[in-house]
Amino acid sequence: MVRWLALIFLFLASPAWAADAGKPDLVLTGQVLGADHQTYKPVTFDVPEGVIRLTVEVDYARDQKTVVDLGLLDPVRFRGWSGGNKKRFTVSAEDATPSYLPGPLPAGRWTLLLGVPNARPNSSAAYEARITFERRPGVTNFAPGPLKAAPGWYRGDLHMHTAHSDGSCLAQSGVRAPCPVYRTVEAAKARGLDFIAITDHNTTSHYEAMAELQPAFDQLLLIPGREVTTFQGHANVFGPTAFIDFRLGDPSVPTIKALQDAVAAAGGVFSINHPSSPSGEQCMGCGWTVPDTDYDQVQSIEVANGGSQRAQGGVEGPLFGVPFWEAQLNAGHRITAVGGSDNHDAGLTPDTPGSVGRPTTVVHAEELSTAGILAGVRAGRVFIDLDGTRDRILDFSARSKAGAAAMGGVLTARKGEAVAFTVSVTGGEMAGVEVIRDGAKLPVAVGANGAFTVKMGDKASWVRLNLRDAQGRLLLIGNPIYLIPLP
Ligand SMILES: [Zn+2]
Ligand SMILES: [Zn+2]
Repeated sequence: MVRWLALIFLFLASPAWAADAGKPDLVLTGQVLGADHQTYKPVTFDVPEGVIRLTVEVDYARDQKTVVDLGLLDPVRFRGWSGGNKKRFTVSAEDATPSYLPGPLPAGRWTLLLGVPNARPNSSAAYEARITFERRPGVTNFAPGPLKAAPGWYRGDLHMHTAHSDGSCLAQSGVRAPCPVYRTVEAAKARGLDFIAITDHNTTSHYEAMAELQPAFDQLLLIPGREVTTFQGHANVFGPTAFIDFRLGDPSVPTIKALQDAVAAAGGVFSINHPSSPSGEQCMGCGWTVPDTDYDQVQSIEVANGGSQRAQGGVEGPLFGVPFWEAQLNAGHRITAVGGSDNHDAGLTPDTPGSVGRPTTVVHAEELSTAGILAGVRAGRVFIDLDGTRDRILDFSARSKAGAAAMGGVLTARKGEAVAFTVSVTGGEMAGVEVIRDGAKLPVAVGANGAFTVKMGDKASWVRLNLRDAQGRLLLIGNPIYLIPLP
C-alpha cells in the first residue's frame, strides 16, 4: 500500500515545465553510504547536442537520517547549489529555478553533485535522479501544473512591460525607475486577475524573474510572452521562452513568413498588437504594415489597447483595432480579438485605461495553465472587458438543423435557414447587446431571454456581439461565430 502511494506521488510530482515532459531521458540510481558522510559525491551524465532545457528531479531514502544536498555543474562552470531545499529544478538559456543559473546548455559531461551532510556509519540510502531534456522550443508553464484544473472563464492581461524593456514606476524617493517584475505581478494580483503575459520588447530576460515569482503567486498564472517589435509592426508571442529572432528584414529573418514559421514551430500564439497605431516618426513601427503577413498564422489581434485608449481619450477612436480585425475576418480568416493594457507603469491607478488589467481579456479555458489559456485564445470563446471588471460576461451560442456552435466556433446551415442564437450577459442589460454581421450592425433586437435569429446567407459570414451601457459606451467586445452555408 505504502509503495503504491509512493508511486502515485511520484506520478503527480513528475516535471511539467517542459512541453514534452513525461518520461525522463535518463534515470540515474545509486546508494549514498555511510562512507559518503560529509563528502561531495559526483554523479556524472552526458548531455547531447541540441538540448535547450534540462530538468532534474531527485528522490532518496530518508529513513536512516541520510541527508542529500544538490548542486549542478556543466562541462564549463558551476550552475548552482540548492542544498536540501529543492528536489526538482530546471535550467535553460532564459530561466532557471532559483538557486541555479540560466545560460547555454553545452553538450558534454555534466555533474549532479550530491553533498552529504549526514550519513550514519554502515547506512545505505538509495537515490534516484530523473533527468529530462527538452530539445525543441515549446510552450512553458512556470508552475509545475495547472493553477486550477476546472474549465471556466479566466480573466487576464496579455500585454505589459517591466524593467526588462521600457516599463518604469516610482522608486522610494519618488523618481522614476525601471519597474521590477514583481510590481506588475502585485498589481495584477490586486486587480484579481487570473493570468498575465509579461511582454517586454524582443527580450527573454524577464522569464527568470517570472520563474522565481510563480510559486509565490499560485493563483495568478504567469504566461511567458514577448512583444516582437519590428520596424513594421509589433506582435506579441505567447508560450515559448526560447529566443525568437525579431530582426525582420535582416538576413537572419528576411520575411515575416520566417518569423511566423519560427513562432508556429515553437507552439506559440502570434498576436498582432495595436494594428491601427500610426507609423512613422510619430510612432516608429507601431502600426501593422508588414507586407505578406500570413493571416492564417495569426491567432489573435489586439483590438483594444489601453495605451491607445489613454492617448485618444476613449476606446472607439482612430486607434481602435476593431476595423483592422474585422477586415481580416471579412477576408475569410478566423482570428480571435483580444485586448491588452500595454502597461508601462505598474503604479497606474486601476481607474486609468492602460493600468494593469485595463482592458482585461476574458478567456474560456479548460484549465488555468499556459497551454490551457492559449488553447482558449485559439478557440475564440473570448471577450474583452474594457473596464476590467471582475464579473461582466458576454457569451453566445448558435443552433441550426445541422448542429450547434459556441462563440469562436463554426456552424453550418442550409441557405435561407433561420439560425437561432442565444445570448447570455452578466453585468449589463440585454438591451445593450449589439449584433454585428460581417462588420455591419444588424437591425435585430435581442429578446429579454437573449434570443435572436439570423438568416443563413449564400456565402460564409460571421456574427459577433458587443455590449454597451445605457449611454452607448462600449463595455464588452465579443468574438464571432462563423456561419458556413450548406449547398
Ligand atoms: Zn507595441
Ligand atoms: Zn507594448
